[in-house]
Amino acid sequence: MERLKQAIVERGIVLSEHVLKVDTFLNHQIDTGLMAAVGEEFARIFQQDGITKVLTIESSGIAPSFMAASKLEVPLVFARKRKSLTMDEHVYASRVYSFTKRTESEIAVSKDFLASGDRVLILDDFLANGQAAKGLIEIVEKAEAVVAGVGIVIEKSFQPGREQLINSGYRVESLARVASLENGRVTFVESEAP
Ligand code: 5GP
Repeated sequence: MERLKQAIVERGIVLSEHVLKVDTFLNHQIDTGLMAAVGEEFARIFQQDGITKVLTIESSGIAPSFMAASKLEVPLVFARKRKSLTMDEHVYASRVYSFTKRTESEIAVSKDFLASGDRVLILDDFLANGQAAKGLIEIVEKAEAVVAGVGIVIEKSFQPGREQLINSGYRVESLARVASLENGRVTFVESEAP
């Protein structure tokens, strides 16, 4: 998605060879026009897939997911992050190791909001090692619902998340695929369709 790639190049900050900061439009301040366009693009890609729910993780996944769910005319559910395991039986939960925070936390979704028969589109802001996506997939599968696909705003293609998800049989659609953050520069995967 050309507009997103342009925002990454012009407004992103390469913090290291592994971390891209996009606080100006996605992770702190939200560029509402850009996020609306991102959501519309996800909706366009998955419009034929019979999606019944969009699932993301708080907090940075919510903005790009909102417009996607709105356009697909389905509810948006976000998994909540919890610091410690609780005895709440009425949730589907999984444990996720955070790439940026370097801590493990539990994510959970109420059993009220996912059911067998749902076809779920999982969306997130970044894909690195795939931990967040795998945690969300585990939750969907605990609910005996179907993972219809995984949509990612910014994929770091030099990290293993995408390949692992694809090897496990999931469809992954990323709007921007970053090939490298070396030398303080963002380069994108060449073959990416605009
Ligand atoms: P994964 O679970 O795939 O290893 O990492 C994805 C999660 O970590 C995303 O939900 C995102 O919040 C965070 N993340 C991973 N890499 C980056 C990055 O380069 N920049 C930012 N801002 N967040 C990242």
